[in-house]
Amino acid sequence: MIAVDARNTSRTCPLAAGGCGHIAKENRVTQAKFECVKCGLVENADTVGALNVLQRAGLLL
Ligand SMILES: [Zn+2]
Repeated sequence: MIAVDARNTSRTCPLAAGGCGHIAKENRVTQAKFECVKCGLVENADTVGALNVLQRAGLLL
């Protein structure tokens, strides 16, 4: 079990998906949609959260 700080995972622009890593609550447009206010990356919000958790756990390089 890897402990991961899950805070901000759903509002951080996912580097793993080609994003910029920008953190802003405005990135989370709706419950289902993520759109980065800085680089414009659009992704499913659940996917963004999952990618960021994996990245923090060191499972993505
Ligand atoms: Zn971004």
